[in-house]
Amino acid sequence: MNNIAIVCSGGDVSGMNPAIKHFVEYALSKGLTPYLVYDGYEGLIDNNISKANYSDVSGIINRGGTKIGSARSERFLAVKHRQQAKDNLDALGIDKLVVLGGDGSFRGMAKFYEEHNVAFSGIPSTIDNDIVGTDYCLGVDTALNIIRTSLDAIRDTASSFKRAFVVETMGRDCGYLALVSGLTSGAELCLIPETPYDLSNYEEKFKKELASGRRYFLAVVSEGITDSSETVAQWFEEKIGIESRVSVLGHIQRGGNPTSRDRLMAYRFVQFGIDGLLNGKKDKICCYSDSQFNYKSISDVAHKKHVIEKGLMELVEASTLNC
Ligand code: ADP
Repeated sequence: MNNIAIVCSGGDVSGMNPAIKHFVEYALSKGLTPYLVYDGYEGLIDNNISKANYSDVSGIINRGGTKIGSARSERFLAVKHRQQAKDNLDALGIDKLVVLGGDGSFRGMAKFYEEHNVAFSGIPSTIDNDIVGTDYCLGVDTALNIIRTSLDAIRDTASSFKRAFVVETMGRDCGYLALVSGLTSGAELCLIPETPYDLSNYEEKFKKELASGRRYFLAVVSEGITDSSETVAQWFEEKIGIESRVSVLGHIQRGGNPTSRDRLMAYRFVQFGIDGLLNGKKDKICCYSDSQFNYKSISDVAHKKHVIEKGLMELVEASTLNC
């Protein structure tokens, strides 16, 4: 069959729209008929699937989020709804899917493939960058740039007012966003879930710095640490002796115009995903590691715990970032 569909599942990221645009362009260039599935696996079940042409994806390359929507789907966990999804795809003659999502979405697709033999290529898409087997997930660069812009702005006000700012990033139990942001924004402190910390270790050093003229501190903390950001701010006030504020960046990290890197990675991921399907790959995740694209099996990505790469920790150790 020559019909192929794209679906976004789980959390949206910036970069999905460029991926959808290139999916349509590349599929057409390969003689395939592209389809768009709306609202994640819910759309598969509800037959919210439509044939696409260039005009359906024009004017979206610069937009965050996803034009075709994304969703979490309780129903897709049930056999009967996956059967409904299969019936819908059969009626449209679709036997290949490109799935933009996280490891949960890939687990769901792997199950669907086992039951119904619908081939899929998974494209890791999450700002948390916590999918095992790939150094890069779509959306990360845009999120990092939004955090950087925010931290640069916060630094201006922190220095003017002699304050400590505790800036909280997303990432669930992965500290990647906080760590890279702390490093590239010249922060003084970075707390992440992967590294145990004891705030009292920094007291003497920070107090000395304050006494010798430091005007402000920037602390980047990941949402998954054991202390709340407020507790860290309170520590700055009580133990270091500097007025402090908390800034929780929240969902602004997920949106915004995709950066050039995310647009290019979207194109490359999609092209690699479609090529895999055309070359007989049936249930692979498209990964990017050691500066190369490669196909990995679901067991290599979805059932293991992510660890932050050693090289990044080495950079931190050799810097002035306390982590
Ligand atoms: P993410 O892809 O961002 O990790 P989730 O873990 O929420 O997001 O998974 C997205 C969707 O994938 C779920 O809402 C569900 O529809 C589907 N899914 C996840 N795990 C399974 C599973 N074991 N069986 C069937 N579907 C699943």
